[in-house]
Amino acid sequence: MRLLSCPRSAYRAAQMSPPAASSATSHSAPRLLGDQPQGGSVLSFYSTKGSPRPPRIGRAEGVYLWDADGRRYLDATAGAVVANIGHGNPHVLAAMQAQAARVSFAYPRFFESEHNVALADRVCALAGPGFDRAFFVSGGSEANEAAIKLARQYAVVTGQASRWKVISRNPSYHGSTLGALAVTGDEHTSSIYGPMVRTMPKVPAPLSYRLPEGESVESHAMACADALERTIEQEGPESVLAFILEPIGGLSTGTVVSPPAYFERVRRICDRHGVLVIYDEIMSGAGRTGKFLAAHHWLAARPDIVTLAKGLAAGYTPLGCVLVPDRIVDAVAGSGGFVHGHTYFTNPLSCAVANAVMDEVERLDLVTRARERGESLRRRLEALAQRSPLVGDVRGLGLLAAIEIVADKGTRRALPAAFNAPARLTVHGLRHGIALYNRRANLGAFGDFQMITPPLTISELELDELVERLERSLDDLAAEAARAKLA
Ligand code: PLP
Repeated sequence: MRLLSCPRSAYRAAQMSPPAASSATSHSAPRLLGDQPQGGSVLSFYSTKGSPRPPRIGRAEGVYLWDADGRRYLDATAGAVVANIGHGNPHVLAAMQAQAARVSFAYPRFFESEHNVALADRVCALAGPGFDRAFFVSGGSEANEAAIKLARQYAVVTGQASRWKVISRNPSYHGSTLGALAVTGDEHTSSIYGPMVRTMPKVPAPLSYRLPEGESVESHAMACADALERTIEQEGPESVLAFILEPIGGLSTGTVVSPPAYFERVRRICDRHGVLVIYDEIMSGAGRTGKFLAAHHWLAARPDIVTLAKGLAAGYTPLGCVLVPDRIVDAVAGSGGFVHGHTYFTNPLSCAVANAVMDEVERLDLVTRARERGESLRRRLEALAQRSPLVGDVRGLGLLAAIEIVADKGTRRALPAAFNAPARLTVHGLRHGIALYNRRANLGAFGDFQMITPPLTISELELDELVERLERSLDDLAAEAARAKLA
């Protein structure tokens, strides 16, 4: 079942809000994809003509979204784990307006921008020792591409031109551009785009719930680290440039948190072989896990390069960032400069917005809040797991959390992949007034997860509401699975 193949009535029945002081207007747009002969929704690229359309967004404020018909949804995943400071923040909107009125675009290689400098100073200070420079781009895939290219150019200009392989993990997700897909561990996307890219070597990503027979979380993680060393040796250490990993998996593993010893062993292995360590913190960075970087949870194992996006500008404008040490930047700059750049890199409007977002992160102490609320969310989700027949596992760190949906908690058997439990849960969620982002990794081969990643601004009362609405949605899913004799 595809996400949009449920009856439109599922959306229509979504919860009505109390009358909102909304500027949203009711719309009379066609209700099925493809009804318009030209143009229309981008979803016509994802679902066949005649599929029902999701609600049209009207407005958003705090942790809530309203559709154009005034129905309210609690944003339980901050969109795609983006809206860290919540929606409609007045300080950010004012900064956006002020910057747009001054200058919205000036090419960064012609004109320095005040907000570029301020934001770089700020994120480097927040990231701490080893992160001296920041390169801003328009999103997560671009950030990973830039990180990999910078690492490669560094190798070339420092006499290590034989190093070009970037080892990554399976499963993993590093973005949608061809370069990012080359390091993404997802068989489904590889089956389509694999022949077009030079696919990079993969090692297993440690899992924590579906463990190989006889392994503990720790022993399995260490075996995965050892697989990295074996792969480096098989490939030839002189050919290996970097190892890229999500320190806490996103949708690829459903927020698996590995033991500290894993990160330490990975660091030692990479040091031994002169391999750079790149943390993809597109999801886990910018405060979501209760530290500014997830890397800060394991200080004995620092990465060389970190990529950020999502929470950095919190969805107010597109922005990504690569954090790098001086030694890499100086070597590349000294050899004629980074052979890379995009029209919109270091966009002044996005930098101004991200500075305002960071003001709010500091003013509201959202990094601490992510940790504290993360603990209360976890308690609530663990209690929910006791009640729900479908919730097999609760995991994550801070407000980067997920539940794993299973058919049988005893055996950990997943629901059949064709049932597509996450997509069905999203539909039930909309009916129960909760927005749940889902993107299926590896066609569900590693299990079904539901990320629970609300804005870091969420209150305790709103957390209660989130879990209550989630539970109702899970109850509907359980009933559906039982009717289909699957659980
Ligand atoms: N890396 C990770 C870990 C992600 O979760 C994502 C997006 O979900 C990306 C990279 C790609 O980011 P973007 O979609 O902004 O290109």
